[in-house]
This record gives sequence, C-alpha cells and structure tokens, in this order.
Amino acid sequence: MLTFKKAIQKGIVYLNPFTNFSPHEGKVEIRWDPLTDLTSRIVHFPVKKIGKFNFNDTVEGSLHSKCPFCPENIERMTSRFDKGLFGFERLERDGVTVIPNILSFDKYCLVAIISKEHFVDMDTLINGNYLLKGIKALIEALRIINDFDKEAQFYSINCNYMPMSGSSILHPHIQAIAGEYPTNYHGLILDKSRIFCKDNKRVFWDVLMNEEKDLYDRYINDDGKVYWYAPFAPKGNVDLGCIFQKNSIFDLTDADMNSFGTGLHKILTYLKMENISGFNFSLFSGVKDEESFRANMRIVARRFLPPVNASDANYFNKIHMESACLLFPEDVAEEAREIWSKKII
Ligand SMILES: [Zn+2]
Repeated sequence: MLTFKKAIQKGIVYLNPFTNFSPHEGKVEIRWDPLTDLTSRIVHFPVKKIGKFNFNDTVEGSLHSKCPFCPENIERMTSRFDKGLFGFERLERDGVTVIPNILSFDKYCLVAIISKEHFVDMDTLINGNYLLKGIKALIEALRIINDFDKEAQFYSINCNYMPMSGSSILHPHIQAIAGEYPTNYHGLILDKSRIFCKDNKRVFWDVLMNEEKDLYDRYINDDGKVYWYAPFAPKGNVDLGCIFQKNSIFDLTDADMNSFGTGLHKILTYLKMENISGFNFSLFSGVKDEESFRANMRIVARRFLPPVNASDANYFNKIHMESACLLFPEDVAEEAREIWSKKII
C-alpha cells in the first residue's frame, strides 16, 4: 500500500586521493518519505565511527556565567507561571521543574529542567530516566493548557540535548510548544495523515507499522503499545522513530508511558554505544478527536564533526529543506535491534 520510492543518482567520476587517484563514481540515493514526499539524500561513502566527544572544556566554559537551571539559581533566575491560570508558579514532579520559556516561540512555550546536576552524561541520562520524567511532567503541564485553551490545538515536546544539537544552555532540559499554528513539519504530517485516511480509509501510521514490520528492514521493536523503527527517509545519520497507538499525547496512559520509557532506555543505550552524546527529538501530538494520526516521535543524533567541531546541520537542512546523511536506516535499525535481542540494559 505504501510506496518506498528511491532513486540512485550517479555522480561524476573523480580520481580518488584515498585510493591512489583511481577513478571513483560517486553515488547518492534519494529517498521520498512515504507520508510527506520530502526527500532525503544518503551518500554512498565509507563512514568511520566518530570518537566520543570530550565535554571537559564545554562544561568549564558553561560555568563562566551562572547557570539559571542549577537548583540554587532556579528560584531567582527563571520565570514563573501565572498561578491563577496554572495552579502553580513552577511545576515540580519527580525531580523535574517545569517553567515558562523566557523566549515565546509559541503561544505556550515550556521548559522542563530534567536534572539537578549541571552536566549529565549519557550513562546518567539513561539510568536516571530523566527524559521520561521530563516528558511526563511536560504532558501534565500541557494538559492544563489543553483544558483551559481550546484554541491551542498543536502540541509537541522537543529537545535539543547538548550544544551540538543547538542547545545554548548545557544544563539538561527539554521543551514543549503549544499554540494555534503548527510548525511546518507538524502541520505537514497532520495534513498528509488526514489526506491518506480520507483516500485509503486507514490510518497511515498503522499501515506504516504493519508494512515496516513485514519488511523487517527498518523495524526495530514493538510491544503492542509503542513501536520503534528507523524511518525510510532519514533526517540525519541516525534517525529513530517511535509511534504510539494513540492519537494525542493526552490519550497516553501510564502503561503507554512505561512502555515508552523501556524503549527509550534501549534507544539511548544504542546512541551511547555509537558515541553519540547529543540529539534532537520531537514528539508530535495529534489534534483532539482526529482519528487519522498517531502520536509519534523522531530522535535524530547530532554531533560536532571533526576536525573543527563543525555543525552537522548545513545548507541542505537550513535552506533546501533537505536531509543529507551517510548512514542507511536499514543498518541503523539492524544495530539498534541488537539492543533488544542482547537484552543490554
Ligand atoms: Zn546548571
């Protein structure tokens, strides 16, 4: 039912300096996302595993000015909610503090400070379940908004983890936005899901889960509640997808979140094993009462590229609305699946 369309574009033959200038024909695989039709490019080029990033200088540099998210500074340096509207000034849950973002990127823009520690490495992040706790606290705060503001329809929970992902504050935090206008991508996947459902009388995400599981090329694992896979048209070198069985983040039960937490633990373990210590994620919620969508998430690894610590986002992402990478999602899925089969947690 779905089309996993791809094309190989052969490049001009060049004389390769790494193989004594023997002729080499470059190749790029162009893939069309089965829902959005947005293209991604996967360059055929041997990839060396990048070493672990050393955070020593970054941590030291981050302490040159006071960190607003360190526990002793939160009270004085971070913003507060209107207690009359929210019932609290700051939401404290399970070691997480939720505050309004000082920068209003949307009608509602929330920040969850997910750790007491100023710097958290991947081991601590994984074992402390900090992301899960932060997401749960944000859903609780967003639920209040959802109850009192019927105009705000578009909800997502997002993360820039560590400076390589675009985070300007080192102290671990995640964010949520809610408002009356979706971002380009959130709006696009909602629209395309509506169109698919109207045309096919089925939910795209359900069809995708079934087809990917049958193909077993990019499928990673599912437990009936939460489904993990490596999307066909990746948004980065390591792009991991997660699909819930529910439309909205507000429909997710404790059992759903427990299942999600178990999978997230394994996915983060996979990233750690790949020496990845920075990432972005976005968890998209469907619009209330629409049956054409499933709440879903993308986690995209981010890293500084040696030797000059270059950004791994470039003109493709910033201007062309294109993703370009060197790793195939089929290889990523195969390796990530091993975390489940080896029971590494
Ligand atoms: Zn801090």
